[in-house]
Amino acid sequence: MRQRIPKLRERLAAAGCDAFFSLSPPANQYLSGFRGSTSAIAVTHTEAVFLCDFRYTEQAQIQVEGWAVEEVSGSLPTRLAERLAGLGARTAVYDPQGLTVAQLSEIQQAHDGTLKPDADIVAALRQIKEPGEIEAIRQASALAEGVLADLMCELRAGTTEREFAARFEYEFKRRGASGPAFDTIVLFGPRTSLPHGAPDDTPLKTGDAVLLDFGCRLNGYCSDLTRTYAFGTIPQPWFEGAYELVLTAQRIALEAARPGISARELDATARDLIEEAGQGKHFGHGLGHGVGIEVHEAPRMNRESETILEPGMVITIEPGVYLPGQGGIRIEDLVAVTQGGCDVLSETSKELRVIQT
Ligand code: ZN
Ligand code: ZN
Repeated sequence: MRQRIPKLRERLAAAGCDAFFSLSPPANQYLSGFRGSTSAIAVTHTEAVFLCDFRYTEQAQIQVEGWAVEEVSGSLPTRLAERLAGLGARTAVYDPQGLTVAQLSEIQQAHDGTLKPDADIVAALRQIKEPGEIEAIRQASALAEGVLADLMCELRAGTTEREFAARFEYEFKRRGASGPAFDTIVLFGPRTSLPHGAPDDTPLKTGDAVLLDFGCRLNGYCSDLTRTYAFGTIPQPWFEGAYELVLTAQRIALEAARPGISARELDATARDLIEEAGQGKHFGHGLGHGVGIEVHEAPRMNRESETILEPGMVITIEPGVYLPGQGGIRIEDLVAVTQGGCDVLSETSKELRVIQT
């Protein structure tokens, strides 16, 4: 973590700015180590100032090392703006995705310098993980996959999507995670065609597809995995062919994932195969996304992303085929890009599995 502030300062210098500021919890966790929900930071070429209110002072003193921790009261954006002025920051850069319009306007009212948006200022650092971060993501994935392995034997006809999703989230916490990395997706039967459907009271029936997309947050880092199963018997007539197609597309993309390929090209390796099979219009989302402190972060992996893969990126590879009214298949693994290719962090089998009733 100690290298992160010098790297941020290099970017500040390249942008010709005096300071960086942030009110964003994930960015503030990355740069300072603070895991609370409300804080502000200001980093200049010589100083690193951390602001929080009374509720978080003790926590910050424990988690934030090497920073001046200052307790403030009243409006945090206004106190931040005053602090920036006090630091002599005439030109300050911020991540526009990490601030609300209301926060920005409060800062502008209390600071008469120039504020420059730069969506890459921290994202460019965060997307290249340190070995310790990759290890944290691997551990989060191992915890979540252990939950999956243990819960599969609990699936019975009549179990509802919501009940099963709740079992995942309970087990995440019971086993040491701070919680789910995102709302757990459990979908049964034709509802598996909803790529990001929310679990409801639908009961499981023999012959249903079962789509599980889940991850936990452990030690500040997220995991993300999707598997699709058949319950009792294979759903007819669509399941087997769609499963084989998605699995092949996923394997092709895993083999192609290496430094130097662009996210757009990688997306195309899987998409071209699915399009050739006549299912292109049923794969309407991107191939994947970066994972780290947030479950969706840079780099984006889609048809438009020009990001070139680099060692240290942690991304998902998750093609899917969704047939409205019938069901959907998605298979998602979490991978770390290495010098020579990629290291698949997910360990759960992808062979077509029929869960016994
Ligand atoms: Zn997922
Ligand atoms: Zn994902």
